[in-house]
Amino acid sequence: MYGRLVQRCKNSTDCDFLYDSELCYECIDTHKSFKCLYSERLQECVDVLFSFDMRNCQNCILCTNGRNLNYCIENKQYNKIEFEKKKTEILSSQKNIEEAKENYIKIRDRALVKYASATKCNNTTGDYMYNCHDGVMVFDASDTKNCSYVADVDKIIDCYDCNNTYTGAERCYNVMGNLSSNNNMCTIYPMYCNDVQYSDSCYHCQSCFGCVGINKKNYYILNKEYSKEQYQKIKEEIVEQLKSDGLYGDFFPPELSLFGYNETLAHEYFPLSKEEALKRGFRWQEKTTGTYGKETIKEKDMPKTIGEVSEDILNEILVCKDCKKNFRITKSELDFYKRMNLPLPHKDFECRHQDRMKKRNPRKLWHRSCMCDLKTHQHGAEKCENEFKTSYSPDRTEKVYCEQCYQQEVS
Ligand SMILES: [Zn+2]
Ligand SMILES: [Zn+2]
Ligand SMILES: [Zn+2]
Repeated sequence: MYGRLVQRCKNSTDCDFLYDSELCYECIDTHKSFKCLYSERLQECVDVLFSFDMRNCQNCILCTNGRNLNYCIENKQYNKIEFEKKKTEILSSQKNIEEAKENYIKIRDRALVKYASATKCNNTTGDYMYNCHDGVMVFDASDTKNCSYVADVDKIIDCYDCNNTYTGAERCYNVMGNLSSNNNMCTIYPMYCNDVQYSDSCYHCQSCFGCVGINKKNYYILNKEYSKEQYQKIKEEIVEQLKSDGLYGDFFPPELSLFGYNETLAHEYFPLSKEEALKRGFRWQEKTTGTYGKETIKEKDMPKTIGEVSEDILNEILVCKDCKKNFRITKSELDFYKRMNLPLPHKDFECRHQDRMKKRNPRKLWHRSCMCDLKTHQHGAEKCENEFKTSYSPDRTEKVYCEQCYQQEVS
């Protein structure tokens, strides 16, 4: 429930970029983990809470850069009894959880980080990458070859400027929401399509131009069928016109968008003020959806522990602590919080989601050098001189290391 890019997971709530995991809550960028809470960048962890960059760890609270740890708090060893006592105490009330969240931010800001989250990558800049080869500005990507300026992509080759493009797409440019499609350009949601340009929501189509919502069609222009020869002639004329207007190759212009800039994912990754957005030709949505002021329980009167909560809560209207929007708890959420012994959230889904996304690095890169000056490393008495592109901006507090220095310290 309430996640983004949650894949092959069970019984997890409020997680983003969670893979092959179960019973997780408020976890981000986490793989193959079980019963983990309020953590980031976990791999193969069990019962890990408020922790950052952990691999193969169990029973840890407020730890960073942990490898193969068990019963640790703030990276110090405890015995099982001491650990369980501390864990029960932290999870006993909303107040203690909020305190732990604050402590987590402090330890996380001092953690050691690798310049990019990149595994099995070669000659590629970006972040959150797995098995990516030869590309620049590659984010949240796996299995890419010769792809640049792409994000949220998997198994693609020779694509530029594509988002949400998956399973074997090749030679696509300026495409959004692309599945198993080749040779497409400036198009939204082409699924199993080849040679489609300036179209929207086409399925199983070949050679189409300026079409919307068609299925299994060939040689279509503006949703009308032509012979192959006619299609090629008219398409060439349109392309020549677009070229002479200096528009060919550009994506659809912003005024055609059905949404306000502030309602879209773009705003999440590249926030603009209303003035900036309007200046660039985007719309702006003044009225956000939702109801306000209808709450039947004030935020300060919310039950402090899940033990105090009965099914009556399902009939109540709650209010978000931040944006004051009303929200409800559904039965399946309540069951999850009861099962996990977690207090009810004090924020609506959108604010919870925004809080998590703020913890992830931006889709921007800075040129920096390794911050390591450990004398035990190969660079000896000198500071490490390795340089890289990183999504950690220079004003951040983490120690940003190159691959070699990070591996030597953390693995
Ligand atoms: Zn809110
Ligand atoms: Zn280094
Ligand atoms: Zn070093």
